[in-house]
Parts: sequence; structure tokens; C-alpha cells
Amino acid sequence: MRKKIVAGNWKMNKNLQEGIALAQELNEKLTADKPACGVVICTPFIHLASVAGIIDKSIIGLGAENCADKEKGAYTGEVSAEMVKSTGADYVILGHSERRAYYGETPEILKEKVNLALANGLKVIFCIGEVLEEREAGKQNEVVKAQIEGSLFDLTTEQYANVILAYEPVWAIGTGKTATAEQAEEIHAFIRGVIAEKFGAQAAEDTTILYGGSCKPSNARELFAKPNVDGGLIGGAALKADDFKGIIDAWK
Ligand code: PEP
Repeated sequence: MRKKIVAGNWKMNKNLQEGIALAQELNEKLTADKPACGVVICTPFIHLASVAGIIDKSIIGLGAENCADKEKGAYTGEVSAEMVKSTGADYVILGHSERRAYYGETPEILKEKVNLALANGLKVIFCIGEVLEEREAGKQNEVVKAQIEGSLFDLTTEQYANVILAYEPVWAIGTGKTATAEQAEEIHAFIRGVIAEKFGAQAAEDTTILYGGSCKPSNARELFAKPNVDGGLIGGAALKADDFKGIIDAWK
């Protein structure tokens, strides 16, 4: 059976001390009251090694928010997949809409990142999603299909088994405007169909597909109740341990 997951994306928030405090608080809450789903926190690079030493990794997984599209060498300021893995992290978010929009990450660049992440033993949380104009023009399905095809279709089924998908409509990220549970279910089912066509029915059935975009304790339960919604990728609400735990508890 596919895994249910709630993953947090801290983005560029929290200095080191604040990040450590948040990880500690979350770890305390989740060791005292065990989650009924997988939990992952994806932090800025600078937090990874410290947070890895704080969390109980049997309860909370750790991930980065990005990695380089090159293996190693003279790429000043970049952080490689191998470096991420060496901190104790096991996941990396790739293809987030903010990276696509603000840092020009194309499907080709993301393909390189995905390959390097997987080659270094990281699980990839791969984000896809349409912008508002695309949704209004009814193009959301073709947009997400092209994003998947452009970066993931060269993987073998074995490699693909370490990919988690996150459907994040860009118009819902950080806007307070959530996709309805019906909208999420409809496109998640479509995405699962795209995966089935390429990687087969079993791989599609096993794929965890997260919803992301203004998910909070008050709407998580309704979203997660849909058969093709396997959890959430959480931005703003992952920055407060109580809110994040409130979403995690939607699986109980
Ligand atoms: C995100 O950016 O991954 C996200 C889902 O953000 P938010 O929850 O703040 O909308």
C-alpha cells in the first residue's frame, strides 16, 4: 500500500537557532503522540546537519528544498545531492514552483537534479502544478503531464519508485486559496493515470501523491479523505509545530 505522508517545506524561513527550536518542538510532540503517517521536514541547507542530530528519524524524515544539477566542482554557492545526503537527509524537494518561476528551473535542469538526487540515495519529492491562467484555460492536466514527462519519463520503474509527487496549484500556494477536495482528487487521479501509462499500474498504485497549497489543520482532513490524495506538502503551516501537527493528525 502506498505511503501517506505529510511533508513540511520551510522555504527561506527560520535562522539556525529558530530552526533547531522548531525541530526540537516537533520531535517532542511527535514522540509523545506518534503520527499515523510518514512525516518529513524539508529545511534550508544550513539546518540539515543540526536537525539530523535532533530528530528521531524513525518518526520524522529529513529533506532539503533543492540540490544542484551538477555532481561536483566549480559551481560556487551550489549544494550537491551527495552533500545533502551526507548531512543525514533522505529527501529532497525538486521542481517547486518557486524554483521554476524565480530561478528558471526548466524540465531539463530538473531532470538532471532528479537523476543526481536518486543516484545519491535521496528520495525526490517532485512538485508539479499549473498557474492560475492555465487553470482558467482548462489546461491544468496538460501542464502537469508535460512537467512529469519532461523530468521523470527517462527514469526506470526502479528509479521511479523513489519519487513522491506533490501536486501544488501555483494559485493556491501561500495565497490562502485552497483547491477544493474535488479539484485535488480530480487532478490527482489524472496524474496517477499518467504514471500508470508510463510506469505501469502497480507503480501508479504505489505512488504517493501529495497535495500542496494553503493546506492547514482546518482543511487537511477533507483533502486527505479523497482516495487519490495521499497527504500534503505544507509551506506556511509547517512553520508552527502545532499547526503542522494539526495537519499530521488529520490522518488519525
Ligand atoms: C508550498 O509552497 O509547498 C506550499 C504548499 O505552501 P503553502 O502551504 O504556504 O501554500
